[in-house]
Amino acid sequence: MSAETAERDPRRPKSDTGHLVNWKLIGVLAVKPHKHLNIVEGARYGLMTADGFDTGNNGVGEVMQEARTFQHLCDLAGIPEGWNYSAHIDARVFLLLAEVLKHRARADRIVAWHSRETGPGGMVGDYCTECGHVWPCDTRRMAEGTYADEEETL
Ligand SMILES: [Zn+2]
Repeated sequence: MSAETAERDPRRPKSDTGHLVNWKLIGVLAVKPHKHLNIVEGARYGLMTADGFDTGNNGVGEVMQEARTFQHLCDLAGIPEGWNYSAHIDARVFLLLAEVLKHRARADRIVAWHSRETGPGGMVGDYCTECGHVWPCDTRRMAEGTYADEEETL
């Protein structure tokens, strides 16, 4: 898939989580060689089945492209590639998951620290108890993922 095709594809406007997916970047990475995947352009890939080698399955090439894209995305995310089995996709996915969980735990702790001040009789104040900025403070919004910045696009 070319970068232009991926960008215009109306079937793929957003991910399931509602985040915009940069299909242009994915289209570029899908055709960019990666040292861990030796995908020969123009070759026909297939599956070994009980009936022999089946090259009529176009899904194999797509999976290989996605694997290449994934390796590039892990590189961009700073996930160590290691060597031997550590460079395989399952190992790198595990490291990526560990990083995501670690950062979510940190963000959850920050959210708990930056809370809205309370007032008498169940009233609430207008400021953050931790930093004293107007509620909700930027730190709280960043930690909980509600902070919006125009420059925050991938
Ligand atoms: Zn705060």
